[in-house]
Amino acid sequence: MSQKFSTLLLKWYAQCGRDLPWRHKGGAHPNPYIVFVSELMLQQTTVKTVLSYFDRFIKRFGDVKTLAEAPLEEVYLYWQGLGYYTRAKSLHQSAQTVMSDFGGRFPNTREDVSKLKGFGPYTVASFLALAFNQPETVVDGNVMRIMARLDHLTSPLDEVLPFLRRKAESLTDPNNAADYASAIMDLGATVCTKTKPKCDACPVRVFCKSKSSVDVEQIPMRKKMTKKRVEGYVYIVQNTQGEVLIRKRCEPGLLSGLYEFLWSEKPLFDEAVDTKKTVSHIFTHIDMTLKIYEMTTDTPIGDGFFVPWDKLSEYAFSTLMQKVIQKYNHKG
Ligand code: SF4
Repeated sequence: MSQKFSTLLLKWYAQCGRDLPWRHKGGAHPNPYIVFVSELMLQQTTVKTVLSYFDRFIKRFGDVKTLAEAPLEEVYLYWQGLGYYTRAKSLHQSAQTVMSDFGGRFPNTREDVSKLKGFGPYTVASFLALAFNQPETVVDGNVMRIMARLDHLTSPLDEVLPFLRRKAESLTDPNNAADYASAIMDLGATVCTKTKPKCDACPVRVFCKSKSSVDVEQIPMRKKMTKKRVEGYVYIVQNTQGEVLIRKRCEPGLLSGLYEFLWSEKPLFDEAVDTKKTVSHIFTHIDMTLKIYEMTTDTPIGDGFFVPWDKLSEYAFSTLMQKVIQKYNHKG
């Protein structure tokens, strides 16, 4: 069965698979660096979003040496808008590891690739498959969904996880690992989608026990993740020259190393005026809403410093803080 499943899937991929810059239909990508960058960019981010940043990033950081030698702040600037900046930091650090520990050549064993920062089991498998055509199985949410639907498994996902992994491995075509990995990901992204799967157009429907079933959208069954709600205050502090106060976030965590306006979960300044504007942003486990306040002072606060508004683009801000800038400057 496995051979026929992969044969049908690969045939479909050759005709309908997406052409993406980090892929090379028919085998490994000739430039592992391209795959390397794409792997970290694609974590928690859609292909569509990554595509709008990828070329610009590669134009500036054309190879692993250039990336390793670039200041992290500049990498952040080119990452701006992709969110999850810890990935940018990991990418930069991993580029330095490739230069220092592997002489600038990308490692091609599971053990060595696992030493790269930000490369967990999924990313290692995907990198080895796409960059070196090694017989690795990629198992992400898309693949899990397909595997569960093939057998019409209605049990909670965490109960069937080990089975799904084994099934995914058994179906992988070891001789065409790069194309197979891309094909199964494309199938999940474009055909066997979370909602409204296109079973009529599915190349592997003959193997599927869920095809066009009424409960197909409920498979696999997931527990609902509850997000923590956080509310807070963000302050647009300006001096009498009209410059705005920003600071570099040094506290460890998701947004460390990025610039921000002063903000807190508790009110910071009694004299600040409520602009009646708010911004919301959803992080992985947090649903955050900030009320925007404004105030004027010529005295820098804490480790903050004043910069002209038209120079803000030279600093890397989180997506949340970019939303603050847009919302604050939006009239009405
Ligand atoms: S037949 Fe439908 S449910 Fe089954 S794998 Fe294909 S798209 Fe998914």
